[in-house]
Amino acid sequence: MDDIKQHIRTIPDFPQKGILFRDVTTLFAHPAGLRMAVDGLLTPWVGARIDAVVGLEARGFILGGAVAHQLGCGFVPVRKKGKLPAATHAQDYALEYGTATVEIHTDAIQPGQTVLIVDDLLATGGTAEAGIKLVERLGGQIAGCAFVVDLPDLGGRRRLEALGMSVHALAA
Ligand code: 5GP
Repeated sequence: MDDIKQHIRTIPDFPQKGILFRDVTTLFAHPAGLRMAVDGLLTPWVGARIDAVVGLEARGFILGGAVAHQLGCGFVPVRKKGKLPAATHAQDYALEYGTATVEIHTDAIQPGQTVLIVDDLLATGGTAEAGIKLVERLGGQIAGCAFVVDLPDLGGRRRLEALGMSVHALAA
């Protein structure tokens, strides 16, 4: 899966000085790159029972929608606060400075449904953990979490594995 990295560009000092931002828009714009990413994300779950893919805003929507289509299941968005129109559950999580909140519709997952969580990138794991908590609050069972990029120095994999999650990433 090394080829995937060729399609991801790194932008220094975005969104703030000192951050090396992995820009996956170039991966998404490349036909073979996008296919490689979507196929790579879903491979461990081909033949498994997945009732829904939960995508994390915003790049997790692009990947998660395609993964759900391929797996033949539904797609559920976890969105930033205030974007979902019906009744929601909310989960706060820590950012470097301050906190953020994500939400899920209260009727998006039924108890006992099996869920795959998808996002483009795993850094500290705070965003994914918030998504996991929302799914678990609805009674969903998490089959695993799939990312295109894992930044291992930031500890997200360890954090999610400590929660008992199966973590799948295509590039570091
Ligand atoms: P975490 O919560 O694991 O610290 O950060 C991961 C979340 O922030 C993901 O939703 C991801 O989209 C976004 N993110 C953080 N850093 C980057 C980056 O360098 N590139 C991209 N594409 N997304 C990032």
